[in-house]
Amino acid sequence: MKMDLKITCIPGDGIGPEIVAEAKKILDVIAKRYGHNMHYTDILMGGASIDVHGVPLTEEAVAVAKSADAVLMGSIGGDTTTSPWYKLAPNLRPEAGLLAIRKELNLFANLRPAVLYDELVGACPLKEEISAAGFDMLIMRELTGGLYFGEKKILEENGVRSAVDTLIYDEHEIRRIAIKGFDIAMKRRKKVTSVDKANVLASSRLWRSVVNEVAKEYPEVTLEHMLVDNCAMQLVKDPAQFDVILTENMFGDILSDEASMVTGSIGMLASASLNDTKFGLYEPSHGSAPDIAGKDIANPIATILSAAMMLRYSFDLDCEADAIENAVRQVLKDGYRTTDIMSDGCKQVGCREMGTLLAERIN
Ligand code: NAD
Repeated sequence: MKMDLKITCIPGDGIGPEIVAEAKKILDVIAKRYGHNMHYTDILMGGASIDVHGVPLTEEAVAVAKSADAVLMGSIGGDTTTSPWYKLAPNLRPEAGLLAIRKELNLFANLRPAVLYDELVGACPLKEEISAAGFDMLIMRELTGGLYFGEKKILEENGVRSAVDTLIYDEHEIRRIAIKGFDIAMKRRKKVTSVDKANVLASSRLWRSVVNEVAKEYPEVTLEHMLVDNCAMQLVKDPAQFDVILTENMFGDILSDEASMVTGSIGMLASASLNDTKFGLYEPSHGSAPDIAGKDIANPIATILSAAMMLRYSFDLDCEADAIENAVRQVLKDGYRTTDIMSDGCKQVGCREMGTLLAERIN
């Protein structure tokens, strides 16, 4: 079915504009090949917005993002030691824009795939007998509740300081992220590993019981529960066992970084943050890499794979998303690499050329 897709783009700072341009190049090829219309509107956020408006995100920019079907972002921020943006008050710095837009768009589900490509197996820090099995998992992290948002206190009594953080989840928060997790598992290998610490935490026991309730609605999906400490070990011992890992905010923060590191390739890692509609914000997992900005050497693949996630999760265009992911596999197979993933015997290409090579491989 021919679709009209309204996409707000946030090129951002550093390498952001370069990698978003390549993602648009790929989306344009997809549009042409599959008969869709892409309507892009760019907004400023982060340092780029500070330079023009004095704030990292304006209300007008938020309104534009809200009026779209999805948001595609590069990355924001500058060199945190030398950039004048970091001399501003914390609420005026680039990252405040990102936190504000996540809140405005009610993005409570964070998805981070971690895929080991056969061709990049050498970058994986795991032993060969483990990496040989490959892996393709997705961490689904609750993003707006739990320990990071509960009440915090620092107390002093009789000269002794103490601190309190509150870990609170209600069943609605757990149910909505669990539904997202199961929905996404239905588009993948239909397995959910729900990660908690139910042997010691009450919030985890509620988590487990609500996840079990949701699972009843998805008879095709295999559900297993795993304690977070075991999951941290299994990620390095046998990552091939995982499909969707569903977990709360703090566990997801830690496990998603661990899963990223075992792929070994920061320029390849996509991400998405979703709300309870089909709307989402899609961005690479890496930052704005100010050290290589403007040099045409950044790897655009994480952003291009984020665009593929946008097609899959916001627009249900699975064939189009597959076409992009297959093009990425093919370009790696054909031996093309940006500097960050370069290895012996491969051909080094820049950001723009990588975009063009991928565009040629869309079918
Ligand atoms: P970074 O991810 O930007 O860079 C870390 C290293 O990885 C650098 O050497 C960089 O050159 C390299 N790198 C990152 N992406 C690459 C790519 N696509 N291709 C090739 N090499 C790549 O992390 P950092 O240096 O800690 O942060 C830089 C800025 O980015 C900071 O201002 C930080 O706050 C911001 N940041 C933004 C986001 C976001 O927008 N969501 C996320 C993380 C960091």
